[in-house]
Amino acid sequence: MEKIIRIALDGPSGSGKSTIAKKLSSKLNILYLDTGAMYRATALKAIALGIDTHDEEGVKTFIDDIDLQIKYIDGSQHTYLDGEDVSERIREPHVSMAASNISSLKVVRLKMVEMQRKIAGQMSCVLDGRDIGSYVLPNADFKFYITASVDVRADRRYKELSLKGHKVDFNELRAEIEQRDYNDKTREFAPLTKAIDAIEIDTSFMTVDQVISKVLSYIER
Ligand code: C5P
Repeated sequence: MEKIIRIALDGPSGSGKSTIAKKLSSKLNILYLDTGAMYRATALKAIALGIDTHDEEGVKTFIDDIDLQIKYIDGSQHTYLDGEDVSERIREPHVSMAASNISSLKVVRLKMVEMQRKIAGQMSCVLDGRDIGSYVLPNADFKFYITASVDVRADRRYKELSLKGHKVDFNELRAEIEQRDYNDKTREFAPLTKAIDAIEIDTSFMTVDQVISKVLSYIER
């Protein structure tokens, strides 16, 4: 039987995790789970219900029964909420901050982590997020902590959103990234942290291919 391998990619917003994870999963022919998409879909649900994303009691009213599904179509992840494919909608800029807020609630994290462990328990996979190596999969075979400077991350996000036709202000985007970093690092339950056994890679001045080569050099060792 083939060995199941699990790879954890953690790091702050915009550090390039999802690009790396996507390429890595296709090179290794294993599943990629974008865990941020799950927090984003949960935020979308709260917004649709008119519930404040900081309001734990309000969120408790729907989180246990949330109809959130991850499906793979032609190898890429699609996120479904109440039967609707929301993969595009969860990328809208206003959802980012809402996801950051809602992800600090313990009830939300417990639910998401349960779903993530179920998916990761079945096959080889790469998961990207904030707490994968430190909390979701503490026994992952490989753990990487992907970082980049705030300016580089803001610049990448700016270009990505501009390409999609969103009008965004660079300084606002930068401030939002700093706020999301702060939220991720200071929340009480499962904050963003580099697992002690994770390999840190600063991607500020690296191309995607260079990062992939570096990651693969550890995995193939
Ligand atoms: O990675 P992405 O930016 O799509 O994630 C959206 C939000 O979800 C992040 O700002 C972060 O606060 C939260 N998140 C998290 N834990 C994860 C993945 C994402 O708290 N494992």
